[in-house]
Amino acid sequence: MTYRSGFVALVGKPNVGKSTLVNHLVGRKVAITSAKPQTTRQRMLGVLHGEDFQAVLVDTPGMMSPKSKLHRTMVGAATQEARSADVVLWLVEVTHTPTQEDEVVAKFVRGLAADRPVWTVLTKRDKLRDGVPEACLALLPESSQVFTLSAKTGEGVRPLVEALKEVLPEGPPYFPVDQVSEQNDRLWMAEVIREKVLMSTRQEIPHSVCVTVEELREGKSGPESLYGRAILYVELDSQKRILIGKNGALLKKVGEKARKDLEAHWGKPIYLDLWVKVKEDWRDRDDWLRFLGYS
Ligand code: GDP
Ligand code: MG
Repeated sequence: MTYRSGFVALVGKPNVGKSTLVNHLVGRKVAITSAKPQTTRQRMLGVLHGEDFQAVLVDTPGMMSPKSKLHRTMVGAATQEARSADVVLWLVEVTHTPTQEDEVVAKFVRGLAADRPVWTVLTKRDKLRDGVPEACLALLPESSQVFTLSAKTGEGVRPLVEALKEVLPEGPPYFPVDQVSEQNDRLWMAEVIREKVLMSTRQEIPHSVCVTVEELREGKSGPESLYGRAILYVELDSQKRILIGKNGALLKKVGEKARKDLEAHWGKPIYLDLWVKVKEDWRDRDDWLRFLGYS
């Protein structure tokens, strides 16, 4: 039996469903998702284990024209991951009429096709009543294989998995069979907290928040519980007030939602200690972006 393994990068504009598809393929949540663009800020890995293959799925930040240093590091990460992948999946939302932005991403992915398979994945098929719109098809490079699927319903996912299995290079597994992510506990805790902030806030807050985990250790009662302390940074005092909420109500809601997810993830109770601080312009500070692990 030949064993196949390789890296599969998912790229595309923000919000097309990259992280949702990675989670669906892995069968477990390894990347946070939200209805807000720019949810994913750095590479996240998810491992798809098959009988005779392993696909290391590389979730990437959305490609867009950068408006801050943070954006530039995000786009940089996406392009770098795509360039070093064995297979590139270019995701496009099927209901969507192409724009100038799509042309920029299309040009980039076409440039990758000389060195590796680049396939097009039309996402969110469940939102479509009729066939794929002409406008959407016009975007696709002729050579590419096209898959139309829904990560929400699972419809159309199987042919993609079958095709990946065939095209991956021969090689040993990169990860043990019971491992589906990089297992960076602090990063995961920070991401889950950030996801709950994205769910609970609007306008500029989702883009202005970053989360650092200062402490993650055994709880007071021993190894059956965990204690985590995190700081949520925003850029302005006014944002801090909003994020804390009246009598701390919003921060409390964020903490409760995050705690529920993290307890399910680790299978034990966790006490979460959340703090909000202001770090002016962190999105445009090189030192800060490095500190956060974004660059
Ligand atoms: P990303 O920015 O490309 O990683 O996109 P996300 O995975 O975060 O998804 C963006 C939004 O699209 C979220 O609200 C998802 O719930 C939604 N979404 C993703 N995949 C599907 C799908 O197959 N069908 C539908 N209806 N919504 C989806
Ligand atoms: Mg994402």
